[in-house]
Amino acid sequence: MSDDSKMGQGPATIGRRKIMLAGASLAAAPLFAGAGSAAAATAEPPPLKGPFAVRAYATKGAKSGFAPMQIQRRAVGPKDVLIDIEYAGVCHSDIHTARSEWSETPYPCVPGHEIVGKVAAIGNQVTKFKVGDYAGVGCMVDSCGECENCLADREQNCQKGTTFTYASPDKVMGGMTYGGYCERIVVKEHFAIRMPAGANLAAMTPLLCAGVTTFSPMQHWQLKPGQRVGVIGMGGLGHVAVKLGVARRAQVTVFTTTSNKLEDAKRMGAHEALLWSDKAAFARLANHFDLIISTVPESYPMQQFVDLLKLDATFVNVGALGKLEDLDGMLMAFGRKSFAGSLIGGIAETQEVIDYCAARNITADIEMIMPEQIDMAYARVIDKDVRYRFVIDFTSARKA
Ligand SMILES: [Zn+2]
Ligand SMILES: [Zn+2]
Repeated sequence: MSDDSKMGQGPATIGRRKIMLAGASLAAAPLFAGAGSAAAATAEPPPLKGPFAVRAYATKGAKSGFAPMQIQRRAVGPKDVLIDIEYAGVCHSDIHTARSEWSETPYPCVPGHEIVGKVAAIGNQVTKFKVGDYAGVGCMVDSCGECENCLADREQNCQKGTTFTYASPDKVMGGMTYGGYCERIVVKEHFAIRMPAGANLAAMTPLLCAGVTTFSPMQHWQLKPGQRVGVIGMGGLGHVAVKLGVARRAQVTVFTTTSNKLEDAKRMGAHEALLWSDKAAFARLANHFDLIISTVPESYPMQQFVDLLKLDATFVNVGALGKLEDLDGMLMAFGRKSFAGSLIGGIAETQEVIDYCAARNITADIEMIMPEQIDMAYARVIDKDVRYRFVIDFTSARKA
């Protein structure tokens, strides 16, 4: 998400000590695929018996840059998978969180919620993966599994508090969760996504946040072939939204503030690409769209775009997760227009977007970086100087 707003700022510290004790006892009794099990017969690496150290890239304050740091990962529990991370996308939410732009972030902070790697170990109750499979992790790693929303495959809306992939209270280890800017992660298999072998996995990595965040509203509001969808913002999320809208055979119109992105939008199949400054276009497109998806990661005057909706159509904000400005009740009422929020997608829906994109060869446009370049990448994202997603390459980092 550009998008995982308050992610991680839940009712954090209550019962931290209790949680840590529970985590310690869990860690002391990990249940692995042991001798005699099917998994053991496939000669997987020896299971890790307790919490273990992993090299990560962390920031220790809103203004400090990233530096290597050792973090602890929990022992692989019976339903856990251990993933050797190969790729991690850089989402604008990572920047908001690393810099405490939504609220005060707990430090040290290891962002990263677009994660793909190879399964290196599994617990003895894992059924979805075997060692050597490719797995992805998106924006969340746990939820209660019992509430109405979890039972409806909306784990990101868990009524008891979703555990997001980073900067979220870690119910197993205590402390805060650490994300994908690191070499390994342990996660419940339910929250791991099957990634297709043989695909361009580096370029699929951003689909785990940017993909599902823009796919989910198209599904929920049932964007159909021939309908008109507006995509506001042509960044990490926006460029994927264009590709997903085109794949649905909708008529896609892109609104960007960056003139040299106009051609890219057309190349990706957009019907039209416009600058925000094009007032004539705004006049022409009044009452035009069936759906508008706003991916801009900051608040901005949105009513000018809401005015472009048809009667009964919906404007979905997935990008700006702070306070919003400038909505006009009168104008919304006269057009019976809806204004909605949407947060990533559930695990089933995340698997669906991965399978959907794999079947259609839809990937993000990416630029690979080494972990030492995260600060540079952040600066370039802020400058709108990325086409269109940075992905950290841990395969080369490991060899180095
Ligand atoms: Zn994200
Ligand atoms: Zn729940």
